[in-house]
Order: sequence, then C-alpha cells, then structure tokens
Amino acid sequence: MSTTYLIKNASVLGGDPQDLLLRDGIIADAGSLGPVPGTVVIDAGGLIALPGLVDLHTHLREPGREDAETVDTGTRAAALGGFTAVHAMANTDPVADTAGVVEQVWRLGREAGHCDVFPVGAVTVGLKGERLAELGAMADSAARVRVFSDDGKCVSDANLMRRALEYVKAFDGVVAQHAQEPRLTEGAQMNEGELSGLLGLAGWPAVAEEAIIARDILLAAHTKSRLHVCHVSTAGSVELIRWAKSKGHPVTAEVTPHHLILTEDLAKSYDPIYKVNPPLRSAADVQALREGLADGTIDAVATDHAPHPQEDKDCEWAAAAMGMLGLETALSVVQQTMVDSGLMGWADVADRMSVRPAAIGQVDDRHGRPLAIGEPANVVLVDPKAKRTVDRTALASLSQNTPYQGMELPGAVVATFLRGTATVLDGKLA
Ligand SMILES: [Zn+2]
Repeated sequence: MSTTYLIKNASVLGGDPQDLLLRDGIIADAGSLGPVPGTVVIDAGGLIALPGLVDLHTHLREPGREDAETVDTGTRAAALGGFTAVHAMANTDPVADTAGVVEQVWRLGREAGHCDVFPVGAVTVGLKGERLAELGAMADSAARVRVFSDDGKCVSDANLMRRALEYVKAFDGVVAQHAQEPRLTEGAQMNEGELSGLLGLAGWPAVAEEAIIARDILLAAHTKSRLHVCHVSTAGSVELIRWAKSKGHPVTAEVTPHHLILTEDLAKSYDPIYKVNPPLRSAADVQALREGLADGTIDAVATDHAPHPQEDKDCEWAAAAMGMLGLETALSVVQQTMVDSGLMGWADVADRMSVRPAAIGQVDDRHGRPLAIGEPANVVLVDPKAKRTVDRTALASLSQNTPYQGMELPGAVVATFLRGTATVLDGKLA
C-alpha cells in the first residue's frame, strides 16, 4: 500500500484554498474534506498547488557524460524544481538516434523514479545533419518518442528539415528546432551588438536565429506538420512566431528562464558562467520575451538545463562550454520575472510550465492535467513567500554551473508528487 496524502488548504492555481486527497496514484477527492483515516496530512496553508511541471528541454548527459550529470542526478534536480516530467535531449554519447539508446534513457528514468523521463530522439544520424535518423523506430519503441531534435545543432538543411516534418506527421510527432544558421554564427561567442564590439568577442547576430525560424515556419505551414522552436531569444523571433500563430500555422515555442532574467551585459565580466547557446541578449529582447510569454505567443518555459563540469567552465570565455543549469531555479525565476512583476498569474504559470509543454510533448494524457478528482496525482506545492539564496554547492545536480550563485530568488518548492508518491517533501528529496 502506498502512502495516502491529504493536502489541506492549498491554493490551487492561486485560487481559493481547498483540500486534495492523493490516493492510489490519483486525486481521489478534492474540495473541503474532513479527516480521512490513515492519511499523512500536509498543511498547505499559504502554498500554491500546481500540476507537476513538465520540461521540454533537459540535458541529462547520460549516456556519455556522466561526469556532468546522470539520469539519476538530473531527475533529482528536476523533482526538487517541481518537475514531474522532463524531456531528455538527444545530444548524448552515443547520440539518441536509435530505438536502443532512447529505450536505455527511458529505462534509466524509470529506475531512478524521481520523475518521468521522455527521451527526445535525434532528427539526423549522429546529429550530423546528413540523413534522417530512425524516427519511426524511436516512435514505436518502448520510449514512444514524439519529440525529435538535433538540439545543440541546427537542422540547417532545408530539405532534411522538410522531410523530418513530413515523417513525424504519421505519429503526431513534433520537430523541435535549435534555430541557429551555422554560417552566420561561425566562431560566435556572444550577442552581436555594440557590446560584442567593445568586448572584442565575435558576435552572434539575431538574424541567425530569426532566419531559421522564418524558414521553418514556412516549412511547417507547407507540410502542415508541427514545428516547435527551442529557446527563443530575440524580439524578432517573438514577432515571427506571433505572425505564424496569427496565420494558424502549427508552430509552438519555448523560452528559457535565463533568457527571461539575464542580459548580455553580464558578458562584461568575461565570466563563462554566462556563456550560453543561444547567447544572452539585450534588455529589449528580454522585455519582448516576457511579453510574448505573458500573451501566450511563447507557449512554454523550458529550462535548457545544461550541466557542465567545472573544468569546462573554468577557462577563458572563448574556450568555455556553452550552457547553464536550470531545473532547480526555473520556477523561482519565473515567479520573479512573470508573477511578482504582475505579468502573469499562477494559472498562467501552470499553463506555460505544465499544460502546454505536456501537450507539445504528447504526454498530456498523464501530465499537465487539471488538479481535479480522478486525474493523475502529479502535483507540486510552492511557497511563494519563501526567499532563498542560491548556493551552487547545495544543488542536486552533479554540476554547479548556475548563473544565479549568491542571488536571492523568491519562492520554494515544498513538495512534489509523482502519481501520488512524494518525490520531494519539506523541500528535500523524499
Ligand atoms: Zn539548443
């Protein structure tokens, strides 16, 4: 018999307090409930209840870079961040471009048990951009892959991108594009602009992202197949996606927490902790991304959690690896930038961090569900009044490359439940 939890007085999606009874993996009862014998009671007065968060973009690094992260450590970090599901990116070693590798990652996720792991399949063999990977075999595998991405690299060949879009239609899959025109970004180190000139770092122009997004929107419209745009980072990209949606084209998009809060100015420190792909952009871009997320043009917040060992970051800027941690701080960053700023309510947070990412990843039969009777008990409890100072040595991730070291951020995940089982209680792994 699994433990039954009675959550008392939680503010569901920021609304009026109510009780939730979690039993046998589902929300067995809800509303104003009396005592239930044999339950563990959780006083959730003042806490917000959200459906378990779903990340569309996580790098778990296993197989191949277990010195940076493993499925086990990465999913611990996810649970602590309030996630009940993550999509694991395919740029592992070996690349997740066969049924065998995606099933391996999927099994490791099941064994770890901290959250559901949905492997992303590579679009092209070895992420080389030369020929399509075995998309159908990955879709038919035990891992039931629905999201395909060469993330880290762009599917820059228009014909390959077209064929990938056509192929995934058969099983309502989606191609998640890392939009980076390779020729326009050769050797690029940071956002292209006045500052990159001043700092003497090679610029990464907005057009390199926007040109691919524009092309892929047209390909998605032409093929009538689903395109998802990874980590949108420029105001122009938001405009393109807004246009695509106004035309009814099947296009969705995500933004990372770090692109909602950090700007290119941080590159002045030459500290590679701020080196990321796509690069941190201008304050005007950050504002456009926040507005795009608030009005729903951008569908989802996705972490692009990218662990790197210390030695890959403790070097000069040009040599450093690109990427930052995100799972354990995502909700706090979203609270600060979107909720505490008045741009969104908690129901919007649930929509952008659970409901819509679950739908994009085709896992909305299990995740991103309403907190209602009969639904799977995937729940996160958040204390919006808590404050915490980020300490990179205290994170569950195997790596420490957080850009928020020493920063005070609002909000704390108090508890996370995966199908009614606590993965996090009192802010600690259960
Ligand atoms: Zn990427």
